[in-house]
Amino acid sequence: MGRIRVLPDQVANKIAAGEVVERPASVVKELLENSLDAGGSRFRIEVESGGRRLIRISDDGSGMLRDDAMLAFERHATSKLRDVKDLLSIATLGFRGEALPSIASVSRLLLETRSPEEETGARVEIAGGKMLRYEEAALPPGTVIAVRDLFYNIPARKKFLRSEQTELAHIASLVTHYSLAHPGATFQLISGGNELLHVTTAQNLRERVFQVFGSETLDELVDLGTVERALKIPPTLEQDEPLVKVFRLRGFISRPQVQKGNRNSIFIFVNGRLIRDRVILHAISAAYYNLMPPACFPFALLFLECDSEEVDVNVHPSKTEVRFRHQSFVHDSTRDALRERLIESRPAPAFAVTPGSAPGQSAEFQRAARLPFSEFSQMIENETVAEPPSGGLQAAIDTNSEPPAIPPGERESDLPVLTLRATTGPAPRLSFGEGSIPLAAPLTPAPSAEPVKFLIPDTHIAFPPELMGTPASLTSLGDLRPLGQIHNSFIIAAGRDGLWIIDQHVAHERIRFEKVLKQRAEGQVEMQHLLMPMVIQLTAGQQIEYARIADELQTIGFETEPFGNRTIAIKGAPAGIGPGELERLLFEILEIAEDDFRGLSLDDVRRNIAASIACRAAIKINTRLDQTKMDWLLTALAATDCPMACPHGRPIALHYSTREILKAFHRI
Ligand code: ADP
Ligand code: MG
Repeated sequence: MGRIRVLPDQVANKIAAGEVVERPASVVKELLENSLDAGGSRFRIEVESGGRRLIRISDDGSGMLRDDAMLAFERHATSKLRDVKDLLSIATLGFRGEALPSIASVSRLLLETRSPEEETGARVEIAGGKMLRYEEAALPPGTVIAVRDLFYNIPARKKFLRSEQTELAHIASLVTHYSLAHPGATFQLISGGNELLHVTTAQNLRERVFQVFGSETLDELVDLGTVERALKIPPTLEQDEPLVKVFRLRGFISRPQVQKGNRNSIFIFVNGRLIRDRVILHAISAAYYNLMPPACFPFALLFLECDSEEVDVNVHPSKTEVRFRHQSFVHDSTRDALRERLIESRPAPAFAVTPGSAPGQSAEFQRAARLPFSEFSQMIENETVAEPPSGGLQAAIDTNSEPPAIPPGERESDLPVLTLRATTGPAPRLSFGEGSIPLAAPLTPAPSAEPVKFLIPDTHIAFPPELMGTPASLTSLGDLRPLGQIHNSFIIAAGRDGLWIIDQHVAHERIRFEKVLKQRAEGQVEMQHLLMPMVIQLTAGQQIEYARIADELQTIGFETEPFGNRTIAIKGAPAGIGPGELERLLFEILEIAEDDFRGLSLDDVRRNIAASIACRAAIKINTRLDQTKMDWLLTALAATDCPMACPHGRPIALHYSTREILKAFHRI
């Protein structure tokens, strides 16, 4: 007799459970996905002890026929697929027929379900994969599944569960994000009798984002609207006609100043499925390239809709990964859609304001919901906890009336005034259970439609609504009135909508950066000839880089010539670079060229070179500017494509809105 045996279903289910059911949140995910597939519009999720003791999900969807209620627990039993052809175009969240049998094999499960097509429903009880009860029952239409004592029969698995709070946080994050994907439905999450989240039917995604995160977060976000991109597929052997596939992208992304230390605030839905996808993650990073410092990430909530044949969802048992048929199209169109929208909206960073709460959430939820999607839990476990920013505007202004002694030319990042920017840096974090949760990012006040009145003894002042809350746009930079500088480094300006502080060095850097790139593209880079050629000694490594990028150097405004062994003579340089900066700039560019080998695209290398030139040519901090120069700087900044961040990703201008000023003076 052979040695190979076919495993009994009970064992096979437990093996499948190893992949499908990692933790309580994976159970919630599978059950909620089933409820969504069943077309429900009211979902109630109750948990106890972070889902270890109980997870109960009720829906008002299609329910199951009595006979199906039993069949649903068979391995590979599904109503969502018929044959292998269907695998190519899956429109439901489930399709593997694995979740129910897997969950039932590692818990005590009670299913109560009725289809409106039948008078009575079914009650099924299973423990550790063994059927204990099956009976006909009088039930309302819809389905309720209660999962108790998860992993009670697999102690090894149970040991790996994190604290109740962490598990609960994963569940809260998951429910929140599914609620964002279905604004029309009602979601209620209850933990140990406390309501953590309750959102009712919303008209659209914007309203749901408001319900879940509150108006302050909403103001930090840029609405993508709906962007459609068409992919034209030329005729092939199997298909005579050219095909056009439309990809639709909706969602919200944060202003570049909202900078997170990891990817945990990025949520990607493809055809309604919450997934983790490298292609789209990369596209998001590429969209923020030069707008955000390298190791920072934005908040993003993206919904990509496309023909189901364009995406293979059968990649991983937990269905959290997909494979796109036309990867580079998805990548490039996502990147461009995001970048164009960021450039178009030019959001201005605000000073920090105390965060408020959203209508649909409790305080506990606020903390919990910011945890990442359960499947990506490893990430939070390895996370470093960022220090909460200290100081803010107050500290910056208070420090000293004497300007700090900064040697001319020193990089501005060493300035004590840095505290000013800290408020727009990584969001403060709060530790919660074993994870750590980013708190709300810097926030701006809610828009209000009515003119707001302020009670000052005997006087009512009415401010027009347009001044009172529309998130500031950097387009207004051109209309500002510069009032002077702080520490000869930051321009203070008054505008129709409040007070602005502009970092003169990074502002000029942005102006020069875009100018260099534009001139380069037009083949007319402004350059200056040196009176005396400058001779520079290179290392062997630099010599190799130099030889490799000699053409690029010329295009960008350098005139150089080899001058003996490992020596070059610089005869001309991009305009605006002082002779003292030239050698350092060239070395910096050679270093960037080296990065090229480490996987940067040629385009990125070019942008980095332009950023270097811009930085060296820009007005330094600790430089006095007269009125004309300040006016010029603001007008030129307003005319750039991306006045919100310098090419290295730091913010350029901070905005203190009229509303914030009034609030601080207790006038509202
Ligand atoms: P899959 O979702 O991959 O089909 P599952 O094991 O999750 O596999 O579910 C098996 C089947 O049980 C589903 O195909 C569906 O017909 C039925 N089912 C599960 N949950 C529900 C629900 N909440 N409402 C109606 N039918 C359900
Ligand atoms: Mg399922």
